[in-house]
Amino acid sequence: MNVTHLECALCGLTHEANTLQNLCTDCGKPLLVRYDLEKAAKAFGDRPLECEASLWRYRDVLPVEDPANIVTFGEGWTPLIKADRLAARLPVRLDLYVKDEGQNPTQSFKARGMTAAISMAKELGATKVAVPSAGNAAGALAAYAAAAGMEAFIFMPSDTPRANIVECEQTGAHVTLVDGLITDCGKIVAERKEAEGWFDVSTLKEPYRVEGKKTMGYELFEQFGAGTPFSAAAGGSSPLPDVILYPTGGGTGLIGMWKAFDEMEQMGWIGSKRPRMISVQSATCAPIVRAFEKGERFADEFENAATVASGLRVPKAVGDFLILDAVRASGGTAIAVNDAELVAAVKEIGAATGLFVAPEGAALLPALRKLITREEVLPGESVVLFNIGSGIKYLEALQH
Ligand SMILES: *Cc1c(COP(=O)(O)O)cnc(C)c1O
Repeated sequence: MNVTHLECALCGLTHEANTLQNLCTDCGKPLLVRYDLEKAAKAFGDRPLECEASLWRYRDVLPVEDPANIVTFGEGWTPLIKADRLAARLPVRLDLYVKDEGQNPTQSFKARGMTAAISMAKELGATKVAVPSAGNAAGALAAYAAAAGMEAFIFMPSDTPRANIVECEQTGAHVTLVDGLITDCGKIVAERKEAEGWFDVSTLKEPYRVEGKKTMGYELFEQFGAGTPFSAAAGGSSPLPDVILYPTGGGTGLIGMWKAFDEMEQMGWIGSKRPRMISVQSATCAPIVRAFEKGERFADEFENAATVASGLRVPKAVGDFLILDAVRASGGTAIAVNDAELVAAVKEIGAATGLFVAPEGAALLPALRKLITREEVLPGESVVLFNIGSGIKYLEALQH
């Protein structure tokens, strides 16, 4: 294993890697895993990636020490789908792709985070895990905890899509519905975890979910680069898209990809050029967009947050500064679309691609149209839309 230590993402304080922990003991911000990347780069060179059609193909930059602790359903390594018929509906010619995370186990990219987090929780001795969730994280946690033989304690808003509630119950989790938002659920976990002996796996409040999610960045590199990572020349043309649109709730996927790009640069796979990272939110829950527009590094809590794109209903993200730093450093932007636009886009994308996307992923299409109008996405650019989950979990919002 190539982990050296954990590091606070804000103050830089070093923490030991081999114990169960949540936030920075000094400033209370997220801890990130750091690796000996020279060693990792060599290990990649010695091992064919082709043998592993899951995100564990990147195990040299993932945290688990003993492979026997890996809890996996074969998550990740999702298809990057060329969406020419969808692109033809846009006013300029783009090289347009959908990265379809709906094909993951439990039908969302939350499986990427949970395979890493639950494998590490197992390795470090946790037996009870707890999470506040807007929906898909709960379904993924319930599944991975069941596979690992752990007890899962899940707190969700009572108006979470029905499918998310039922899947958790049917995979043996203890489900509590809360009359409130994910932030209220998070408070309950924080208050009770010590007395109950729960390990809190809230996103970015433990160091490993982001490690699983960062593999989306590694996959883009392989899928765009048409070759093995280690053969790519550093400093050459970047085998990454020009623009990435990401539906942002907690922002862990965006933060993870940004971390992956830095690691790849340090391993000599890419140069300093980065995709422009576009954070997309619902107009009725847009804390990151508001902070971006105000030029602020931290985002205030968004009052009365509401959207049918339940994964975007995160009024206050623990990693707000990491999202905003990445968006700004990449030359990207943050943009909001309203619920009517994103719900309509589910069907438009479906009819033009055959993919039944989640409303969160659908939000990216109206966002892309606005960016084209503003000339922030230009003709000929390569653009990836991250469809983070499947539409199948959102029947109440989509059936008429
Ligand atoms: C969790 C989730 C998101 C938001 O992802 P973050 O990385 O937490 O911002 C978007 N869409 C769907 C379907 C999700 O499940």
